[in-house]
Amino acid sequence: MPANSPVPIPKLFLERMENYLGESQFPAFAAAMEATPKSGLRVNSLKLSAEQFQAISPFKLGGKVAWCPSAYHLLGDDRPGLHAYHTAGLYYLQDPSAMSAAELLAPQPGERILDLAAAPGGKATHLAALLQGKGLLVANEIKDKRVGHLAQNVERWGAGNIVVTNESPERLADQFGPYFDRVLVDAPCSGEGMFRKDMGARADWSLEMVAGCAIRQKNILHVAAKLVRPGGHLLYSTCTFAPEEDEGVIEQLLVDFPDFEVVQLQLFPGFTSGKPTWINARPELTGAVRLFPHLLEGEGHFACLLKRRGEVQDSEKAWSYRSSGLAKQYASLWRAFATETLNLELPEDRLRVFGERLYFLPPLSPDFGRLRIVHPGVWLGSFKKDRFEPAHPLAMLLKQGDAKKTHNLNLSGVELPAYLHGEVLASDAQGWTVVTVNGFPIGWGKGVQGMLKNHYPRGWMV
Ligand code: SAM
Repeated sequence: MPANSPVPIPKLFLERMENYLGESQFPAFAAAMEATPKSGLRVNSLKLSAEQFQAISPFKLGGKVAWCPSAYHLLGDDRPGLHAYHTAGLYYLQDPSAMSAAELLAPQPGERILDLAAAPGGKATHLAALLQGKGLLVANEIKDKRVGHLAQNVERWGAGNIVVTNESPERLADQFGPYFDRVLVDAPCSGEGMFRKDMGARADWSLEMVAGCAIRQKNILHVAAKLVRPGGHLLYSTCTFAPEEDEGVIEQLLVDFPDFEVVQLQLFPGFTSGKPTWINARPELTGAVRLFPHLLEGEGHFACLLKRRGEVQDSEKAWSYRSSGLAKQYASLWRAFATETLNLELPEDRLRVFGERLYFLPPLSPDFGRLRIVHPGVWLGSFKKDRFEPAHPLAMLLKQGDAKKTHNLNLSGVELPAYLHGEVLASDAQGWTVVTVNGFPIGWGKGVQGMLKNHYPRGWMV
């Protein structure tokens, strides 16, 4: 079957929903499920504000997403995923409903945050923006095949405080214990809320699948609970309507972990409260939220915030990163490069060499033991004999104005597609130069004798 060829919405699913929603709601719900899916654009506030993006947006934007101040509803069918502003990491394309999770978890700058099921990185990039580069975000993905996509999205986003791991929840809990201020579990689910855009989810759906997902979710959430520090928060979210996978999973957690309690979430326009009566769960579960496509401009979603009772500890002291500093030969090569090329100073106590590579680590850096780390921080570049060569993620870390030498490309010119396809450009620039699109960094070039050699990575070419 071709990837997204039409598949009818499962009849049994619709019957269940009719039963849950009743006469007053079901007809509108059923009609919405046959309508076109909604999409949104979340601006990367690490690089520019939502309003700055709106002023330069090449795409038709609708109103702001009510529950996410950095995002707009998308109108029209431009293809923003292929635009050079996407390449520059200026935004992430996401279902507006999915933007609720990071906002409701509400990470505070400086905290340590875990996104336990992070690929491809929608919520992780959102959490990183809310952290404003302070504290630590561990973005984890268990599946080897999915973690590369997560790492690439994280690199494009350009945050200096993310570590990407490729681990099971169990191994993370064994290593860290109850260390995180906030944990997000955006659980693998039956995907009923994605039926409008994902024909595969329709084709795979069955009652047995819902039951299987619920068992897996309970297991994941029980391990996640062990990673939350006393006084910390845990947000559980899914993109399904099935109460077995939503309120039912939380009910079981509250039975097994009595030190967790449900936090009443804010009801933004179009949100409805959790539905414990659908599955005979405790009344406090009305504190969760459900997002339905007939009540707002977005897909189906569920979120529940839990708080672990206990004392809030001072996180800074326990987790400050202590560095032994860069070895002399590395420090002088890096400093020479940075002085010539950059307008920003990266604190040297956060620089670390692994092999020949130089990384910029998050300001908080716990002991990762033997965990599989895919992205320990921002790869700044590599030491080659007697020189330092910058890497693409360093260009993505830079904001407008952070580079001393730039070669700017216009959106409408022929140079931009040529650069993104790996071609050499004509330029008077000398040495390492940041290539920008309307001032926003998109990669490196090296100016030599009137030419700008192309250092845009092959793996990133569209
Ligand atoms: N948070 C992501 C985002 O916003 O882009 C989407 C996450 S997706 C809903 C769920 C993820 O859970 C998938 O990437 C999947 O590979 C992962 N997963 C599957 N089984 C898992 C398990 N047993 N433990 C942890 N994660 C699992």
